[in-house]
Amino acid sequence: MSLDRIRSSIDSAASAAGRDPGEVTLVAVSKMQPEDRVLPVLEAGHRVFGENRVQEAQTRWGSLAPRFPGVELHVIGPLQTNKARAAVEIAHAIHSLDRPRLAETLARLAQERGACPELYVQVNTGAESQKAGVLPDEADRFVARCHELDLPVVGLMCIPPAEEEPGLHFDMLREMAARNGLAGLSMGMSGDFEAAIARGATHVRVGSAIFGARD
Ligand SMILES: *Cc1c(COP(=O)(O)O)cnc(C)c1O
Repeated sequence: MSLDRIRSSIDSAASAAGRDPGEVTLVAVSKMQPEDRVLPVLEAGHRVFGENRVQEAQTRWGSLAPRFPGVELHVIGPLQTNKARAAVEIAHAIHSLDRPRLAETLARLAQERGACPELYVQVNTGAESQKAGVLPDEADRFVARCHELDLPVVGLMCIPPAEEEPGLHFDMLREMAARNGLAGLSMGMSGDFEAAIARGATHVRVGSAIFGARD
């Protein structure tokens, strides 16, 4: 099945880069996929899934997660402040921390709950007006602010502009993470995960290459 194919591509890309394949987590992006495509991936033993909408994640995983112990959900899409509470309740990680107001809300929730998902700061590496994420020249200050708020920021995330060479954006993100002392790099999707692994990705978010095209 496609899961096996993607896993072996991940292993080859990591080995080719002189990296341990175990350093790369595959986040299987199940957003907008019918359950009959998600079940085989669960049955094959995969447990790490990405969803971009909190409500869809709640609906799907509220019934699926109890049947498959160990499921780990990653929220990868833009997160509205009023969905933050629901997100922290279901998520192992949030890859889309992209603005001060959300950071403050998550900090408040973390204090209240005594726990917080792992967080990735999303950087708009292409400075695209329609895309979420902090701008590259604001990233260092934003990460520092998150640390002041005691938020468990573990890495950075980006989605390169569709028409550009993704490698330049992956390099930018890696350098930014290094100078901020962050180990996590959430980068690479179906079309470019191998390039992302060559440049240090620790989490690749792969949807259609595993599950097929979304409607
Ligand atoms: C949908 C999505 C993905 C997966 O995209 P594919 O091209 O299907 O692999 C990865 N990251 C984010 C943020 C997404 O919204």
